[in-house]
Amino acid sequence: MPKKGKLFVISGPSGVGKDTLVGLVLPGPANLERVVTATTRPPRPGERDGINYWFLTAEEFERRIKANEFLEWAVVHGNRYGTPAPAVSEKLAHGISLILAIDIQGAKSIRDEMGEAVTIFIAPPSFKELEERLRGRSTECDAEINGRIEAAEDEMAQMDKYDYAIVNTEIEQAAGELKQIIESHTS
Ligand code: 5GP
Repeated sequence: MPKKGKLFVISGPSGVGKDTLVGLVLPGPANLERVVTATTRPPRPGERDGINYWFLTAEEFERRIKANEFLEWAVVHGNRYGTPAPAVSEKLAHGISLILAIDIQGAKSIRDEMGEAVTIFIAPPSFKELEERLRGRSTECDAEINGRIEAAEDEMAQMDKYDYAIVNTEIEQAAGELKQIIESHTS
């Protein structure tokens, strides 16, 4: 039996740079992979099914909830997002460690259900900086951006419930910290 893999949950406010950070850490060691999660939101330009997300219809998402196929799922900024359960449990059982980038609600569910998961909070250097990043990426309209900033204020209050916190002031530096945390739990 291979040693069980570790699950690293990366969370934090929308726009904080979770996906960019994960992109800098991977590809890493062969036994470390990212979980592709599912969503009902439409793909943004350049996003691909099975690479960025599994893009599902509302009906298919609902079917998977009823069939217990999600480890956790949540409504985030008006769309549904969920972590596919079989993909996670099979890989962990085969000794593959996983990085899962999800929102604060999802991270709480995983913390409650899988005490052994390593949780890492990514914080922006300031709200002003977060707002600039959200506006700069031009993927949401103004109302959506305002909603995400409002949510971030509550989300930041969750930081001390995590095993680690990284302030994403400089992306390479933050990626280095994330790598170190992962290495310290996998080597
Ligand atoms: P976006 O639409 O900007 O790609 O993602 C919105 C938020 O949903 C981000 O905070 C992202 O990390 C989170 N998210 C992505 N996949 C999942 C998931 O499977 N579960 C939960 N709870 N949140 C997710």
